Amino acid sequence: MKLFAVFALFFGLAAAFVANALEVAVDVGHDLRKPGAVSARGRNEYDFNRELAGVLAPLLREHGLAVREINFDGRIANLIARPRAAEASNFFLSIHHDSISESWLLPWLWEGVEQTHTEVKRGFGLFVSSHNPDLASTLRCASTMGAVLRRAGFTPTPWHGRKHVAADAENGVWYYDNLVVLKNARQPAVLFEAGVIKHKEEELELRDPERQARMADALATGLAACLSVTEISVPE
Ligand SMILES: [Zn+2]
Repeated sequence: MKLFAVFALFFGLAAAFVANALEVAVDVGHDLRKPGAVSARGRNEYDFNRELAGVLAPLLREHGLAVREINFDGRIANLIARPRAAEASNFFLSIHHDSISESWLLPWLWEGVEQTHTEVKRGFGLFVSSHNPDLASTLRCASTMGAVLRRAGFTPTPWHGRKHVAADAENGVWYYDNLVVLKNARQPAVLFEAGVIKHKEEELELRDPERQARMADALATGLAACLSVTEISVPE
């Protein structure tokens, strides 16, 4: 084969690969006006979500996936608008950080301001809805992400077992059927809770850029591995 032909073949394949790259919709949970939970030190959940999503998006692209950024500007307040913005994507991943119900919160002072924190809950969680139109792929990818996170040294919280039916408790996957963004998704969909921002030590870990990069890398590796062996069609 002439050199030119080899190049043509190579670039042709590369173009075909890019054209066929599966697209992941990465949704930043909450918005600027309703920024979600408040951390032990008074920081809004939206800021945590935006930061981690910003680390995750380029890592997914490095794994050969296309990324549709949803609510990276914090202006999508409407929950149904998120899956709608992701209609052409092959996978929907919503990024959140967790809190705990009020009855478990303890008061403390941080920089002279009264805040609340918890000592009983920490760790990540992955939520799925049994109403998803492709539940098998949803479950497979959630379990794969959870397994890779665990292998990277992250621990799922068992706390969700109090309220949620386990899908794969060992890997931190739980059913949460009526979450608006999950039950309206037209493709496999997972809501990721990176950790508990009301936990004083975990909050600091969640703000650590090196740890954010490791966590995002585990998520991206798990999702890319799952998508590479999963038959996922572009929604009609
Ligand atoms: Zn949230």
